Amino acid sequence: MKSLSAFVFTLVLAVAAHAQTTLKAPSEAVLDRFLRYVKIDTQSQEDQTTTPSTRKQLNLANLLAKELTALGAQNVRVSEFGIVYATVPGNLPDNSKVPVVGFIAHMDTSPAVSGENVKAIIHKNYQGGDIVLPKDPSQIISVQKNPVLKELIGDDIITADGATLLGSDDKAGIAEIMTMIDTLRQNPQIKHGTIAIAFTPDEEVGTGIEKFDVKGFGAQVAYTVDGGALGEISEETWSARTATVTFQGKSTHPGSAKNIMINAMYAMADYLNRFPKDMLPETTEGRVGFVHPYAGTVDVETSSLKVLLRDFDMSGLEAKEKLLREMLAQTAAKFPEVKITIDVKENYKNMKEVLRDHPELTNNAMEAARRAGLKPFLKPIRGGTDGARLTFRGLPTPNLFTGGSNFHGKLEFNSRSGLEKSTETLVHLVQVFAEKS
Ligand SMILES: [Zn+2]
Repeated sequence: MKSLSAFVFTLVLAVAAHAQTTLKAPSEAVLDRFLRYVKIDTQSQEDQTTTPSTRKQLNLANLLAKELTALGAQNVRVSEFGIVYATVPGNLPDNSKVPVVGFIAHMDTSPAVSGENVKAIIHKNYQGGDIVLPKDPSQIISVQKNPVLKELIGDDIITADGATLLGSDDKAGIAEIMTMIDTLRQNPQIKHGTIAIAFTPDEEVGTGIEKFDVKGFGAQVAYTVDGGALGEISEETWSARTATVTFQGKSTHPGSAKNIMINAMYAMADYLNRFPKDMLPETTEGRVGFVHPYAGTVDVETSSLKVLLRDFDMSGLEAKEKLLREMLAQTAAKFPEVKITIDVKENYKNMKEVLRDHPELTNNAMEAARRAGLKPFLKPIRGGTDGARLTFRGLPTPNLFTGGSNFHGKLEFNSRSGLEKSTETLVHLVQVFAEKS
């Protein structure tokens, strides 16, 4: 199938270059789509009892449902939780031979920075140097902090104006998936199996995915399109636990406390001092895990501490829990009158534990990225993803790049090639699945 791949590759490249080609362009360019979506405020909110956490996310959900229908998608629906589902029928003689591949992106933007009245700016034909955002000149996208800018010379860079985030996370993913559907519709000669689509609310507050209907979605495998730099593919997340450590002392009136009061705070302080300085979030990166005391209460009678444990390997996570318990035994020996307990809960697991049994998911994505002219690479995510949650619910779901940078802040940006190359990769990806089945 090599010659066919090379053929299609040339075609899609040609579309990106706006050259004459037999492949028809989508009815709306991915950049135009993206610019429309970022104007719609979809900021989610922490600690709400409803899904979606904010009603305004439905504005985008309903628009996407309408556009999906117009693009010929079937079974288009918005669930009671604001999740948009749709199916793009395959065009093979026997679609049942190809797994149904799902593509998922999230509609909400981070609660950290406003997403209201986003004014996207296109910095045409970028020629290098720092980008100062006009509405707030203290907001500077510097080359030093964003070396990826050096690869974007001659590209059109898209930023917000300095007052808001851009919302590329994850409206880039939505625009890319929608443009993939559009491209497939315009070009029935591109062969693919059945494709499942979902756009979810409340990814940023971690609650939307709980309402995800894996069975109704109908995919055997899926990808979240919610990553960063071009070519970046993620099949690993943290394995995560949280420890709650409680120090029980004895409170009494300080005026008559001699030989009675047992101040639990000192035991907790002793414990905190034992945390190894080279195993903290502020001293680690890449594949190195950490322990992270992040919240607690101090009180004479009862002091307590919450500690995050994070590692990519289960053995590393086990070792960290063992260390926390050993440190606690040392503190307990020093403060025999303080009653100390530790309770460790599992939060989520590295999706690689499941994805290692589905190597074709990563391999096909790498192949698709290469066909789009990119150099794909694997990057573990120092966090959790919706895909990781779905993976453990029976839907293996690695994460694909969107071309964006600086998520959750006013310095967020993407580029024309970021959007176009990510879209191309998706178009190639459905073909790779069809070829390999
Ligand atoms: Zn995201």
